[in-house]
Amino acid sequence: MTHDDTPDDAADGRIETRAIHAGQDPDEETGAIMTPIYASSTYVQDGPGDHRGYEYSRTGNPTRSALEANLADLEGGEYGRAFASGMAGINTVLNLLESGDHVLAGEDVYGGTHRLFEQVYEDYDLEFSFVDTTDLEAVEAAVRPNTELVWVETPTNPLLRVNDIAALADLAHEHDALCAVDNTFATPYLQQPLDLGADVVSHSLTKYLGGHSDLVAGALVTDDPDLDERFGFYQNSVGATPGPFDCFLVLRGTKTLPVRMDRHCENARALARWLDDHPDVSDVYYPGLESHPQHDLAAEQMADFGGMLSFELDASLEEAAEVVSSTDVFTLAESLGGVESLIEQPATMTHAAIPAERRREAGLTDGLVRVSVGLEHVDDLRTDLESAFDTALE
Ligand code: PLP
Repeated sequence: MTHDDTPDDAADGRIETRAIHAGQDPDEETGAIMTPIYASSTYVQDGPGDHRGYEYSRTGNPTRSALEANLADLEGGEYGRAFASGMAGINTVLNLLESGDHVLAGEDVYGGTHRLFEQVYEDYDLEFSFVDTTDLEAVEAAVRPNTELVWVETPTNPLLRVNDIAALADLAHEHDALCAVDNTFATPYLQQPLDLGADVVSHSLTKYLGGHSDLVAGALVTDDPDLDERFGFYQNSVGATPGPFDCFLVLRGTKTLPVRMDRHCENARALARWLDDHPDVSDVYYPGLESHPQHDLAAEQMADFGGMLSFELDASLEEAAEVVSSTDVFTLAESLGGVESLIEQPATMTHAAIPAERRREAGLTDGLVRVSVGLEHVDDLRTDLESAFDTALE
């Protein structure tokens, strides 16, 4: 897929244009070009029950509305809802379910998603299966009569596996289940799950859409008015809504999403190729490499391959820990998607909660290193990694 193939609405322009303008008209009263931060909890009513579209900021806030319209547009969807975090958005999808329902999820979904499913919702008698969603036969075999939701991420974390969204959505629909896709890693600039048949797109806006590691927020986008109405009901009832300042920051982030993603992808591709030839590295996980097992699917489903990559060092847990502690430009930290490059060791950081044996079975070895490739000059990133390898590895 290329950007020219994305489902752009010709009337409103291409995604680079819509990223800047969608949902954001200049303020009618003052002419302010940027959407104001409406720091107001409540709104004057012209008469009892007669308001101008806003009555209380948990229910609706104009800065949040602008963000929701912008995100819906970028995903090629009709309706957007913003939340206080990615997890609050995911929780809202789970609110759709009833006791006794079954959810089929990817085995390598984000750890927080796994925790919410297993440690919170199993207590409410929801059932969960975690399967290798790159294996459609395994997914089919795991469907139960009570399966109501198929939940996938693609590319996945940290092994960057690519799931076939169209096939998974078809499979879910054949069994009258919903298909939800966490599009945090790819962003709507690279991949549009609704167009591929998914019912719901979920985002941690904390990552690429915010883009500057300075906020926590989430979103859901759908084309289905009934689903959106229910999301709005839970958004207001549960109250995990983002404040207007965070909404403003995400709106500022989405304006530069296309240019940032182009550079994230360019830098990640160059680093992946360099690491692939490096004697200290035994494996590189990046969908843009032709050796990646789902490279062809990624090329079809995505406009480019993203800014996340992982690699396997020929190293012990301690040596790999030393590598991630020895970089200067890459910062040792969890999270991803900001302008700055981050490095981490899944075994001791993002995936440490998984018991060691299960972690190794899932391919999360002690020498695995994950990087969120930022926007710095790629030569500096290469030099930094080379010097960390020299310092930490014999
Ligand atoms: N989905 C993915 C793929 C993530 O990586 C994360 C967080 O790392 C989340 C969801 C949760 O988002 P948040 O931290 O904004 O709640």
